[in-house]
This record gives sequence, C-alpha cells and structure tokens, in this order.
Amino acid sequence: MSLAAFPGSVHVRAPGKINVYLGVGGRHEDGYHALATVFQAVSLFEDVIATESDEFSLSVSGVEDAASVPTDDRNLAMRAAKMLATATGYAGGVHLELRKSVPVAGGMGGGSADAAAALVACDALWGTGLSPQHLHELAARLGADVPFALHGGTAVGTGRGDQLNPALARGRFDWVLVTSDAGLSTPEIYARLDEDRAETGALADDPPLSLDVPIPVLQALRAGDPHALAAAMFNDLEGPARSERPVLDDIIAEGIAAGALNGIVSGSGPTIAFLCENPASARDVAAELQDAGRTAMHVHGPVHGARIISA
Ligand code: ATP
Repeated sequence: MSLAAFPGSVHVRAPGKINVYLGVGGRHEDGYHALATVFQAVSLFEDVIATESDEFSLSVSGVEDAASVPTDDRNLAMRAAKMLATATGYAGGVHLELRKSVPVAGGMGGGSADAAAALVACDALWGTGLSPQHLHELAARLGADVPFALHGGTAVGTGRGDQLNPALARGRFDWVLVTSDAGLSTPEIYARLDEDRAETGALADDPPLSLDVPIPVLQALRAGDPHALAAAMFNDLEGPARSERPVLDDIIAEGIAAGALNGIVSGSGPTIAFLCENPASARDVAAELQDAGRTAMHVHGPVHGARIISA
C-alpha cells in the first residue's frame, strides 16, 4: 500500500548518520562532553508517518530489535511531537508510526532521525508552520544529534555537537555499514572513555573544552577524495567501543582485507563504517562481508535531511 494512501497523514523520511570524525574533549559542568565532529547523512532512512489523532500514541516496526524501542514518553519522536504541541499551543494529538531501518543503539542516530522527522511531520500535519530557525531550536533541545538529522548533508558539529556548520563535500562517498544485533549504550561508552583517560592520565591536566576538526578531514571532504578521507577519519570513542565489544577488531580487519580503504566505529558504536574507493568496490566489500556471515550494507553519503515524502 502506498504511504500516501493514509488520509490525514504526513510521511517524512530522515537519514541516519555516521561520524566521519569525532573528537571528544573534557566534560562540561552539565555532564556533556565538548565535541568536534563531522556528521555525514547516509542513505539509510527512518520513515515516520504522522496521522491525525486526539491522543498521542506511537508504534514501531522495521529493524529486528524494534520491539526494544520504547513507545511512551521515553521515545525521542514522542517527545518531539509533544514539545512542538507545547511550543505552538496545539491542543490535539498524533499517532506516530516509526518504520525504522537504522539499527537501534547503533551509533547512527536513529532516535535523533525519528525526532527530526516527527517535528517536520507534525508541523505539516498540524499546520503550525514553524520557521526553520524555530524547528532547529526545538531540535537542539531534544538532543545534540537532532539538528543534524533535520539538515542532513555533511556538517561540522562543535560545542556539544549541536552547533552546526555545513561542510563543503564534493561528490559522493561510498560506505559499507556492518551492523550488530546488540547495541551499545552511548552514555556507557562516554563513561568508559572518561575512565580510560583517568587511568592513563590522558587529558588529565587540561581537558580541552573547545575543539576543532583537523584540517585534513575538511580538505579530504572538499576534494571528494576517499583515499585522503580514509587516512584522516578518526573517532575518540572507538577505543572504548572496541574494548567493550572485541569482535569489532575482527570486523574492521575483515573489511580492510576485503578491500575497504579504512573502517571506523560510527559514533558510540557498534556499527562499523567502511569507506570504499567507489560504488563497485563497496558492492564487493559488502558481498564479501555478507559471505563471512556479517550484516553488511552498501550506502552512500551525503544525502538530504528530514523531508516530506507525501502529505
Ligand atoms: P546516538 O548515536 O545518537 O547516541 P544511537 O543511534 O546509538 O544514538 P538510538 O537508536 O538513537 O541510538 O537510541 C538509543 C536508545 O534510545 C535506545 O536504546 C532506546 O532505548 C532509546 N530511544 C528513544 N527513542 C528512540 C527511537 N525513536 N528509536 C530508537 N531508540 C530510541
């Protein structure tokens, strides 16, 4: 059945992301770490269908562990809809249907994509007509990754990751994602990074509260050069994610042996993103990893942010 077949509903699609670069600094007093990151939206999408209703309700389908996703106020999409209603004085409700493709707790910002999609869908459904600036403000209040899911493309995030600036990126980059059945908790991975740093004394004297993305990362994106990007990509959360989940070491080695230029843990993991030279190489790498029993898929970036598909 076509999604447009639902009367009184709006269908919005929003992308998952990978962090091409993720530098983590010291912790602010509010508990958030200082970040410098480069997000890239990739062609793995969340679909959110918002349907008129007097009450607020939510259902989830799609990925294997969809049943583990909360359907109450803990769900970021539900919080987004209620925040929009409060901000605009809208008195009704909505039913949100989440069709997930982004792995849950995979380090790819699936919940943030759902929240961004819910904001855009409810704004259209309810006719509240918020300005892009106002939508961005609500998104930032929902979570550090939500503004990026609204905008998509390739962007530098600083501050807590929520201060976004578009990054120039030429052409397209081909990625192979290897997902895992069991997710990793983002707060636990940050806590492990703090513990590891305290033990080794790294950053103990002067944890930076303001960081920049290294120039070679930005140059590689601007040049559309996958070899240069493969050499420059980096993630401070990779160490803690790999110690928490040692199989990630094997997966990275397998992907590189299969012909990927490099592999990196995405966000807080456990998804691994392999950068490949071109689409044909990515198809080969994905096929070889699948033959080895991994869940691997070929995606590309950058792609658009949250967008209405049908209303
Ligand atoms: P990030 O990389 O942004 O930290 P993630 O991609 O690793 O996040 P998500 O799938 O966004 O992880 O969500 C992690 C947890 O948040 C889940 O385990 C779930 O309990 C809760 N959650 C709340 N809302 C959602 C949602 N819409 N989809 C998935 N998980 C959600």
